[in-house]
Amino acid sequence: MLADPGALDRPARGRLLAGAPIAADLRAEVRAAVEAFRGRHGYTPALAALVLGRSEPFARYLQQILRACASVGLEGREVHVEGRVSAARVRAELCRLNADPHVAGIIVQQPLPRGLSPRVVTETLDPAKDVDGLTPLNTGLVTLGYGGFAPATAEATLEILRRSGVSLEGLHAVIVGRSHVVGRPVAQLLLREHCTVTICHRRTRELVSHTRQADVLVVAAGAPGLVTGEMLKPGAVVVDVGTSVIDGRIVGDVESESAARVAAAITPVPGGVGPVTNAVLMQHVIRAAEVQARASRRAATP
Ligand code: ADP
Repeated sequence: MLADPGALDRPARGRLLAGAPIAADLRAEVRAAVEAFRGRHGYTPALAALVLGRSEPFARYLQQILRACASVGLEGREVHVEGRVSAARVRAELCRLNADPHVAGIIVQQPLPRGLSPRVVTETLDPAKDVDGLTPLNTGLVTLGYGGFAPATAEATLEILRRSGVSLEGLHAVIVGRSHVVGRPVAQLLLREHCTVTICHRRTRELVSHTRQADVLVVAAGAPGLVTGEMLKPGAVVVDVGTSVIDGRIVGDVESESAARVAAAITPVPGGVGPVTNAVLMQHVIRAAEVQARASRRAATP
């Protein structure tokens, strides 16, 4: 006799991997580290955000970042380039921030305004302050496993898996999307955790044949509803990195209703990867501040 006779008629639902509690834990760790830093070095490190013209989505993201800074005790600084955003002006602002000893981390509005090459940023931004892992040096360090800053979203994906108790070693991880900010760095981080990794993209044939193999599925395609429940292996863990705005609502790449019936666990959108990404960025800023403080102390020692 079943303890709950209705149980077989009801679809089982996967566990929700909410980002908020993980983000709160991370922020508490960062807050303690910032306080210790201030005690040791006598100043509050800053995260500077370079805002290029006007972008509604970036403005919204920036408000979240500034709130996160305030909640962990970091200084959040907005630097605006108004009017015509030329490469020379972006370079000049980046050089100024690179040279400012209180600025530990720098983020730059993404996507860049039309006509501005990403090289302007990747060739100017000091890799030591590149807390969102955009520069080639950080990409290389992460790939080699020599530290460096991975893009915050990619690392947030791993934090969610790790802190939710998913044991990754030996699992088949399938990633949908090969962008430099999510798909590729997530692949590197999962390889480091000893997953077998498949990367799918727009030209992949029969996406479903790959997604059905996934013990862990990371979807970062920016395509709402791309992945449905029938494309999943039963019991899979799904991280939905997509964020698109449809009719004023934020939606992911995974059709959550059908996916939750097949997956063992799934991140919600909103409220999954997003909050953890912001907290990871804070963690990167205090890590950058500590490395920079050590380096300047070494430089000052005869
Ligand atoms: P993000 O910043 O979220 O990674 P991008 O737009 O930079 O988003 O990259 C989107 C990635 O998703 C690309 O690598 C692209 O090949 C992949 N992608 C988009 N649509 C599909 C699709 N229908 N099937 C498989 N991959 C897709």
